[in-house]
Amino acid sequence: MTFIKKKEDFKCDNCQTVNVGNGYTDHCKTCLWSKHVDIDPGDREEKCLGMMKPMECRMVNGEYRVRNKCLSCRFERWAPVLPNDDMDTTLSLS
Ligand SMILES: [Zn+2]
Ligand SMILES: [Zn+2]
Repeated sequence: MTFIKKKEDFKCDNCQTVNVGNGYTDHCKTCLWSKHVDIDPGDREEKCLGMMKPMECRMVNGEYRVRNKCLSCRFERWAPVLPNDDMDTTLSLS
C-alpha cells in the first residue's frame, strides 16, 4: 500500500470546520467525518466522494483509531485519530 503525502486544507462537509492539512489529514478534526476520496490513503483517486461517517473508535496499540464508513458505497476504513482531533468526539464513539 502506498501512502502519498499531500498537504491540503479542506472544509468539512458535515460541520463546516476548516481543517488545515498536514499531509495526513483525512478526516475532520471536530466531528471525525471523512470523505471517500482515496483508493490508497492519500491518493485522492477515488471517484465515490461519499461522506464517511465515524462509526466507532478503538484503542489499538496505545493509539485511538476511528472507523469511518462511506454512506454511498459502504466502504469502511480505519484511520488513526490525530493529536488535533477532538477528544470528546473520539471518546463518544468508543
Ligand atoms: Zn466536521
Ligand atoms: Zn464510497
